[in-house]
Amino acid sequence: MTRLLPIEEEQPYAPIVTSVEPALRAAAEHAIDWLAEVDQRPVAASRTPPELRRRLDSPLPEYPSDPVSVIDDLVANVEGGLLGCAGGRFYGWVIGGAHPAALAADWLVSAWDQNATLAACSPAEAVIEEIAGRWVIELLGLPDNSSFAFTSGCQLAHVTALAAARRYLLLGCGHDPEREGLGNAPQLHVVTGTHGHHSVDRAVRILGLGSKHLHLVPTTADRLDVPALEALLTELEYAPVAVCLSAGDINTGNFDDFRTVMPLCRLRGNTWVHVDGAFGLWAKVSPRFAHLLDGVEGADSWATDAHKWLNTPFDIGFVAIRHREAHRAAMSIRAPYLTHAANARDQLDWTPEWSRRGRGVPVYAAVKALGRRGIADIVERCSDAAANLVEGIGSLPGTEVLSPAVINQGLVRFRDPTGADHDGFTDRVIAAIQAEGTAWFGGTDWRGMRAMRISVCSWATRSADVRKTVHAVERVLTALLPGTAG
Ligand SMILES: *Cc1c(COP(=O)(O)O)cnc(C)c1O
Repeated sequence: MTRLLPIEEEQPYAPIVTSVEPALRAAAEHAIDWLAEVDQRPVAASRTPPELRRRLDSPLPEYPSDPVSVIDDLVANVEGGLLGCAGGRFYGWVIGGAHPAALAADWLVSAWDQNATLAACSPAEAVIEEIAGRWVIELLGLPDNSSFAFTSGCQLAHVTALAAARRYLLLGCGHDPEREGLGNAPQLHVVTGTHGHHSVDRAVRILGLGSKHLHLVPTTADRLDVPALEALLTELEYAPVAVCLSAGDINTGNFDDFRTVMPLCRLRGNTWVHVDGAFGLWAKVSPRFAHLLDGVEGADSWATDAHKWLNTPFDIGFVAIRHREAHRAAMSIRAPYLTHAANARDQLDWTPEWSRRGRGVPVYAAVKALGRRGIADIVERCSDAAANLVEGIGSLPGTEVLSPAVINQGLVRFRDPTGADHDGFTDRVIAAIQAEGTAWFGGTDWRGMRAMRISVCSWATRSADVRKTVHAVERVLTALLPGTAG
């Protein structure tokens, strides 16, 4: 008879961990400490990548280490290399803080360690995702029977939506792109504004549509210029076209004119309208701002993020699609080793990923914790904070407001006192604000000028943060402007 060796004797270097508790408690303590202190720390990172590499790098480990010491070392070695995005004074890009309920739910997703790809792999996560998807569709006022997917972000939401559009539009021309490929397909054109997000460009490239077939329409007052769009659509004659509209411009927060553009595209035929509302679609939840999105529900697909304005942790995007069959045909997969549910939604029929974490779970928790009113409050509070930051900073000497906050985004620039180089001076002020550490803003190009973006996207931002920030910017400007320095 064979003697079964205890596994631990066969594998001396992979010791059996007898309890998960110490490592998880250590991580929870570190996480709680980090979040408790984040508002007291400088918002910018204080260590450079080479400095961090020296601390974090080592020869490839040959032998095991105790999980608790791995976690403790990790935390010690990232010191100075993290930004304070989770705090109340991070106004860079459009990066939301994580709401505690969503963050805690995300920890559970990791602990549960389910593969949220099939109901058979995790019935609970499949059901949670069904519910969370329906809730988001209802919150955003999109058609009830839209299909949806939780993706890694808005980028993959675009890819998913435009894959469905490709299917739908080319099938409308008698060509099945899933089967035939694109070689002999009628050319599909994609149209967006010059203000469109670059993730649309990447989606076009990933889907093999060719970036030369991505047409950029000029903007008027930061919205897609409607006569220019009409002229382009006429020029494209009978070609299938996907028009990508913007719900929330990343610089100004502006919205394209959905009410005018939607009927125009409907009349044309063979035209799919996709909406990039990575953060701006959430404005629909606020009674104060919902009118900015009038007509948006007339589109064919909508992409947004939970990790921005819904304040879930990364990485959770969302796509909703009016044409379920096109969505499913573009994404669904069947394999003999998979088990497909008859009484639940298999996520892999709708997502571009195969194995994936339970992205619906933090969304479910965030919506439960906040409710429609709570989400509207975050939208309004962030927008008020953005307006106050633009106004407060804009009234400091040498500062010019370029774009007052429409929802949660605004733009200012700083005028060089010598008059020589406003762009260079604006970049210097931004760098000095980052170095000062109270708050963090990034730069951008806008109408041929350098500008500082003011973007507020976190539940954690309070009016005290706005006041502290305006004072900090004032101090920075005082130090930089000649004659005002003490
Ligand atoms: C952030 C953003 C994207 C990209 O979204 P990810 O979630 O980073 O993939 C696309 N469009 C707009 C308008 C954005 O703000």
